[in-house]
Amino acid sequence: MLETTIAGSLPKPAWLAEPTRLWAPWRQQGEALAEAKRDATLLWLKLQQDAGIDIISDGEQSRQHFVHGFLAFLDGIDFDRRVEMGIRADRYKAMVPTVTGPIALRGRAHATEARLARAHTKRRLRFTLPGPMTIVDTIADAHYGGDKPALAMAFAAALNEEARGLAADGVDVIQFDEPAFNVYMQEVATWGIAALERAAEGLPCKTAVHICYGYGIQANIDWKAGLGAEWRQYEETFPVLAASRIDQVSLECRNSRVPVRLLRLLAGKDVLVGAIDVATDVVETPDEVAAVIEDAAEHVPPERLFPCTNCGMAPMRRGVAEAKLYALAQGAALARRRLGV
Ligand code: ZN
Repeated sequence: MLETTIAGSLPKPAWLAEPTRLWAPWRQQGEALAEAKRDATLLWLKLQQDAGIDIISDGEQSRQHFVHGFLAFLDGIDFDRRVEMGIRADRYKAMVPTVTGPIALRGRAHATEARLARAHTKRRLRFTLPGPMTIVDTIADAHYGGDKPALAMAFAAALNEEARGLAADGVDVIQFDEPAFNVYMQEVATWGIAALERAAEGLPCKTAVHICYGYGIQANIDWKAGLGAEWRQYEETFPVLAASRIDQVSLECRNSRVPVRLLRLLAGKDVLVGAIDVATDVVETPDEVAAVIEDAAEHVPPERLFPCTNCGMAPMRRGVAEAKLYALAQGAALARRRLGV
């Protein structure tokens, strides 16, 4: 019980991309880039295992951006037609590509890294994909007539195709990242969940959704600080998720001010409880990690609790991220002993 896992991304080594920079450009090209991605993936598989993480990830070493890394494999998107768009309800601006034709998956997006990871570890593998609502919020549309639900369903079909491939590659958990679920609560209920379920349809493996407040970048930190103490988002979103067919929900809980009692609204789901803050370089002590897990265990049965990171660790310093992996595993071990599970 209390098996540990991570939300997804890990820092890229300096020989692959510029360190501590989110969405940093690659430092290699062609064959050397493919080799560097492979080496970085193998490195992080080993480091996660050494730290004692139970359900591990490729660390997203083969993609620059958690949304565009998938979009690059789709037809119907013009990456040269970039426009500036306010995303996550205008919290920050981003240059985004434009949908100019019907969305379709071109072959496979992530087979190389998924098969590589599967061949090199016996641990269970978690693999992340962007959620359809978050994709729709990170792209301009010049083809679907501004019909966001229709565009989301088109992305969901492509995601489902890739996810089925990943499951066949031996991935044990497929997680859809939906930071947009914390921004557009009305739309989550009216079409966000339906699109997510379409993306996860018929998968033979576990399915998960990661809801978060984003990487520890300043725009997100400021936004979180300005939110009220009630965290109404979760109160609206959790019951909808609880009624969905998704197996697991991944949340940030460490330093998040989310009232932990709200986890009760997720009855019947596995809860990936974020016990590692990705917005600070301060490494948690095992005792601090255990405290978050024990709080959550008052509201979620321990067999449904999976200690996790709050979010991806991509922009962190490598040594800090590694130390946080150890803190997570040690904190979970401590919580197991204290809870007697
Ligand atoms: Zn996140």
